[in-house]
Amino acid sequence: MAEVSVIMTSYNKPQYVANSIKAILNQTFADFELFIMDDNSNEETIRAIEPFLKDPRVKFFQSNIKTTKQRVEKVRYAALINEALEMCSGNYISYATDDNCYRPNRLKTMVNYLEKHQNVNIVYSASLTNHINLSNEVLKTQVRPTKGIVSIAPCQIDHCSIMHRQSILPIIKEKFGSFWDENPEFYRIGDARFFWRLNQYWDFYPIREILDDNYITELSIHHKLANEKQNEFVQMLPTQRTCKELREELRAMKKRN
Ligand code: UDP
Ligand code: MG
Repeated sequence: MAEVSVIMTSYNKPQYVANSIKAILNQTFADFELFIMDDNSNEETIRAIEPFLKDPRVKFFQSNIKTTKQRVEKVRYAALINEALEMCSGNYISYATDDNCYRPNRLKTMVNYLEKHQNVNIVYSASLTNHINLSNEVLKTQVRPTKGIVSIAPCQIDHCSIMHRQSILPIIKEKFGSFWDENPEFYRIGDARFFWRLNQYWDFYPIREILDDNYITELSIHHKLANEKQNEFVQMLPTQRTCKELREELRAMKKRN
């Protein structure tokens, strides 16, 4: 049993995925397992992942999604994360994507914080967003600072910047029927929807240090939604629900309580 379970989702990011995996395997905190949940990526991506599979900490799973129709039926990363959450054994859960790099102390700093603060269930850190082109050149960077204790986290925090206790998961599943919401109306903001669930019970506590680098690439879902109006994938998605809606719902719930 590992102390931390890290769940990384991967889909067709051959230029970036190796760096994301390396950043996890090079953590100063040693006691973790890494689930790489691949969504049936192209061969180039699988070749980039392959060298890491001999590391005993890595567990690799691949979906059999083939068509665009299958790809829009569920928020794919939510579905992959839900599968991993059923298998993982850590006391602490941490999420990663194939275009985000943990800084070396990320796991250690977050575990220390949670050990020290037994009343806290979820921590988040500051993050650096890097906009890059396909040649990996950084075009623009932006710090996403922490904003104190956050009771309305949707679209304020990215899932690559949080860690939560495993013990909160049964509560979420009991209330909502699943851990992450796979409803494709939240494809654009899948993590915000998960945070909407979490915030109905718990706040997110800040660690002010920047603990990850997030890379916005031309391959990301957001980029596709913003730039490829004619793209088949985008056309097949249902109308997307919004951050504003999630945040207002939470505010209303909190007012009632
Ligand atoms: N992803 C996936 N299947 C897909 C599309 C995306 O598993 O069909 C994963 C992807 O590997 C990444 C996460 O979902 O880990 C978020 O996708 P992306 O980075 O493209 O989106 P954005 O950064 O715009 O939210
Ligand atoms: Mg991304």
